[in-house]
Amino acid sequence: MTRYLVTGGAGFIGANLCGRLLDEGHQVVCLDNFSSSTPANILHLVDRPGFTLLVGDVRSTIRVDADEIFHLACPASPPRYQVDPVFTMETSVLGAINVLEMARRTGAKVLLASTSEIYGEPAVSPQPETYRGNVNSWGPRACYDEGKRCAESLFYDYIRKYGVAGRVVRIFNTYGPHMAPDDGRVVSNFIVQALSGEPLTIYGDGSQTRSLCYVDDLVEGFLRVMAAPVLPGPVNLGNPHERTILEIASAVVDIVGRGRSIEFHPLPMDDPSRRCPDISLARAHLRWEPAVDLGEGLRRTVAYFAGRVAPAFGPAVILADAAE
Ligand code: UDP
Repeated sequence: MTRYLVTGGAGFIGANLCGRLLDEGHQVVCLDNFSSSTPANILHLVDRPGFTLLVGDVRSTIRVDADEIFHLACPASPPRYQVDPVFTMETSVLGAINVLEMARRTGAKVLLASTSEIYGEPAVSPQPETYRGNVNSWGPRACYDEGKRCAESLFYDYIRKYGVAGRVVRIFNTYGPHMAPDDGRVVSNFIVQALSGEPLTIYGDGSQTRSLCYVDDLVEGFLRVMAAPVLPGPVNLGNPHERTILEIASAVVDIVGRGRSIEFHPLPMDDPSRRCPDISLARAHLRWEPAVDLGEGLRRTVAYFAGRVAPAFGPAVILADAAE
């Protein structure tokens, strides 16, 4: 049995990760300040043996007795991380320093949840880990992109200078249960809109691409990276199947069975036109690749949201299938 600290454990990926670690019989300390999550997200975990909730902020010194740390704490959806960009940058940078200082003191292994956003508007596709990115350092996404780039830099400084057992994963777009219905990400927006019978909001012309990874696959990748011998650098975790936003909208509509109307909105500034991971490194070193296809992942996600979003026209037949 291992004692884990999961910072940001009440967030979307954090809640799924905490659940998986508890399923495997481990102890989990979930540290969260609920700045972009809610206690409701971990309500199903609080009574489980081995689970401890610690309400706190990674911008302050952390003292938790843990063998291994998954460091996820940071607002991660573009509308959320842009609400208070200074807070986002502080969380990335001070959070990394505080987590790394704790790992340095205690000898705990520590994994940073970095992001495909560090590639910015990519000039190569798919993006391998060796691609150094094309980020606008002063745009509205910079607080997150540059914050995570700085966190990566801190991780490798602590690895080199202090021998900290650090690992960095770069997460590409992920979806699944425990996404916040109102956090503004594309999959949660489309599902909530379709379930509510509202038009789906497409930003730009919908030709930009994303590659969607189901959260269970991502969590499996996290565990493999943590268990693996040290890798030479960061590792991409994501689904290499690239789709346009219009294709994603159509996949959601097919599963929900409603929400056929579409509303076009302006493309937000610095919205990347392409995002697709090269996962050769994860395949070779971790024997990892996503197992859940988009249709199956969306069915599970729609079933999760169906119980939480008030349907506008009564239950859609397809949801009964999805919930089975
Ligand atoms: N998007 C969209 N409609 C929405 C929300 C997002 O068309 O209601 C687009 C957004 O402009 C971006 C893509 O979907 O091109 C993914 O957005 P998301 O916020 O999920 O994550 P990102 O990959 O941009 O960090």
